[in-house]
Amino acid sequence: MLKLFDTYSQKLVEVGPQRQIKLYTCGPTVYDYAHIGNLRNLIFNDTLKRTLLAEGYEVNHVMNITDVGHLTSDADEGDDKLETSAKREGKSVWAVADFFIQEFHANASALNILAPTKEARATDYIEQQIALVQTLIDKDYAYQTKQAIYFDVTKFAGYGKLNRQSLDDKLTAARSQVVSDKAKHHPQDFALWFFTTGHFADHTMHWPSPWGEGFPGWHLECSAIIQTLLGNPIDIHTGGVDHIGTHHPNEIAQTEAATGQALTKIWMHNQFLQAEGHKMSKSAGNFYRLRDLVDRGYHPLAFRLLMLQSHYRNQVNFTWEALADAQHFLLKLYNWAELVYQPSFAPLADEVVGQIKSDLVDDLATPTALAKLAELKHERPSHGMLETLDELLGLDLAKRSDISAPQKALIADRETARLNNDFTNSDRLRTELQKAGLSLDDTEFGPRWRRSTI
Ligand code: AMP
Ligand code: ZN
Repeated sequence: MLKLFDTYSQKLVEVGPQRQIKLYTCGPTVYDYAHIGNLRNLIFNDTLKRTLLAEGYEVNHVMNITDVGHLTSDADEGDDKLETSAKREGKSVWAVADFFIQEFHANASALNILAPTKEARATDYIEQQIALVQTLIDKDYAYQTKQAIYFDVTKFAGYGKLNRQSLDDKLTAARSQVVSDKAKHHPQDFALWFFTTGHFADHTMHWPSPWGEGFPGWHLECSAIIQTLLGNPIDIHTGGVDHIGTHHPNEIAQTEAATGQALTKIWMHNQFLQAEGHKMSKSAGNFYRLRDLVDRGYHPLAFRLLMLQSHYRNQVNFTWEALADAQHFLLKLYNWAELVYQPSFAPLADEVVGQIKSDLVDDLATPTALAKLAELKHERPSHGMLETLDELLGLDLAKRSDISAPQKALIADRETARLNNDFTNSDRLRTELQKAGLSLDDTEFGPRWRRSTI
């Protein structure tokens, strides 16, 4: 039985017996390269999805792509991140979004992330977002100022329940914030629709609406996309812990106020990847991209493995030493996987797949699962077993268990030379194999090759 930790109830909850799971992920804001903290979030989502699939669920997974409306502060203050990036790069906002979406896909594919069933760009759902604002106005949850249309948080009884903060607590916390629109009723009220006026007069992305030209607030897209593509309540909603305070309470407020139904049954949040003891973020400048890791000789899947070595609900401090250890561990796993094709009488590691599955269904206990794999030195995998492990963990064990036909031919030639006492050719061929990253041991069962680099 699959159990997951639900942020809302702060409990492990069982995923129901239904066949289909509606899963929604708050995806990237495409104004810059993803940093490896964002990628931790992707790896967490992917592990969740692979576990659901292994448990026999059909997963209808929607992820949004934010290409409008996300201001410098999640609490709707500052500038639109995409507009700022476009000005800096001298490009259109659309070109910026397209470029970083491509980069995001390249990262996801290097990390073996399963593509969502549907990726939804915020700007493709403007009509639905406008309709949602209209419903909130009709139901008296929203009001208009000269600058924007806001959601009135005092009208929504459960506001802030997700992070167990009352509106009074939030009010105290918000006092120090600069609120640019003095006509807002409550500092916590959040924008549903910004007008292209005042601070945003030059905003290049804008659309007509019944209330005037403008663009949607960031929180709105998730509620509108969920309602359009999945229908609430969905089964699982995911995101990073930074969304527990503002973005997710706002999504809940919009959806529940508009539909009278819960947004989701389960809330899941991954903890931060840190660097130098602080949340890795673009604004703090303490971030690395996947490219930086690759440039230093690390395989993207070594980073995936490093992330799986910690539980998604624990903070992780990124260090190069830990990444080097993870790369070494990955090589050891590949060396273990290679045993499929090695002559040996070692017994099959029959039980490991079942053990790993039972760790994953226990709130995605990836560190325990990997510790089990690390213990396997003398038992052999089967090819089918490696494929199942790849379905669960996405580490390419099956793919990396074999070598090319020409390399195998070289090994056979070298063995023939060795058995004929032709040591010159035997040594030459061994050196050639070494250059290709393969080392050889002569065992009682025949030559055993081993990858010596990733
Ligand atoms: P963003 O592109 O900033 O909207 O973030 C995309 C996803 O990455 C969100 O779900 C964030 O919560 C998550 N995220 C951002 N920074 C980190 C971090 N340092 N560690 C883990 N997840 C993060
Ligand atoms: Zn969202």
